[in-house]
Amino acid sequence: MPPQELATSIEYAAKVIAGSRHVVALVGAGLSAESGIPTFRGPDGLWTKHGEPDLRDYERFAADPKTWWEMRIERQGQLGEFVEALNSAIPNPGHLALSDMETGGWLQHTITQNIDNLHRLAGNQHITEIHGNRTLLRCIGCSRRWPLEEFPIDELPPHCPDCQGIVKGDTVMFGEPIPPDALDECVTQTRRCDCMLLVGTSAVVYPAAGFPIDVKRTGGTLIEINSNETPLTEMSDIVVRAPAGESLPLIVDALKALAKTA
Ligand code: NAD
Ligand code: ZN
Repeated sequence: MPPQELATSIEYAAKVIAGSRHVVALVGAGLSAESGIPTFRGPDGLWTKHGEPDLRDYERFAADPKTWWEMRIERQGQLGEFVEALNSAIPNPGHLALSDMETGGWLQHTITQNIDNLHRLAGNQHITEIHGNRTLLRCIGCSRRWPLEEFPIDELPPHCPDCQGIVKGDTVMFGEPIPPDALDECVTQTRRCDCMLLVGTSAVVYPAAGFPIDVKRTGGTLIEINSNETPLTEMSDIVVRAPAGESLPLIVDALKALAKTA
């Protein structure tokens, strides 16, 4: 049994979700922490421990995509802590709960800042991966995407068969603009949204940081699900202060219980 305060916030969250028209989850790295993928920020974050990285990634890629691709291929054998964690991660109960919420009709869309592919593996269909997906490649000209294994790389840099644009990993680099199709979908979803779940995100990075503000401005409800306080806590209507892998399944249980009594 969760402590009383947590139980109350979970029950309250379930009632608001059940009574909302269009629920959107805005997800950050905290959701995947329980799958063994470290966050960047937060108390145990990689940047908190090791400092912030060089932010000129995209500038370097744009200046010399051939060298970027050569380095990507060369580095495949030398996996860092982060990539190793990504390679072995599987969805945790928090991801599965979001998938259950979508199937149950309680969650209409997920905007994720995660690149780890775990929402797709959990079964969610309605997702926007605002920072890309590490298992895909993307054309920087027309934003067409391909699974890594389906795109033959026979020249460096590879070019898009449709528009001849340069093809890169779908993951959005530091300094790279958010792909326009993803950004458009986020704007559409935020406009429709009357209840936003803020799951494992400190939401200090724009444009994601602006979505909850827009929802609040139009009278929507914000439900924060995070094990720590964040800059969003103060403007949230409900705060579920627990790891997402524990609290999201409890919210799903509460939604199912509400549906039975309805
Ligand atoms: P972030 O700013 O969203 O911070 C992580 C948040 O998760 C913190 O607020 C922390 O309190 C919270 N948190 C930690 N463990 C939690 C748990 N078990 N349950 C609920 N909340 C928890 O994200 P970031 O780490 O600063 O990353 C910045 C960007 O880097 C991300 O938006 C993403 O694009 C990328 N990133 C992706 C992954 C991934 O794909 N899994 C991992 C790290 C970083
Ligand atoms: Zn293209």
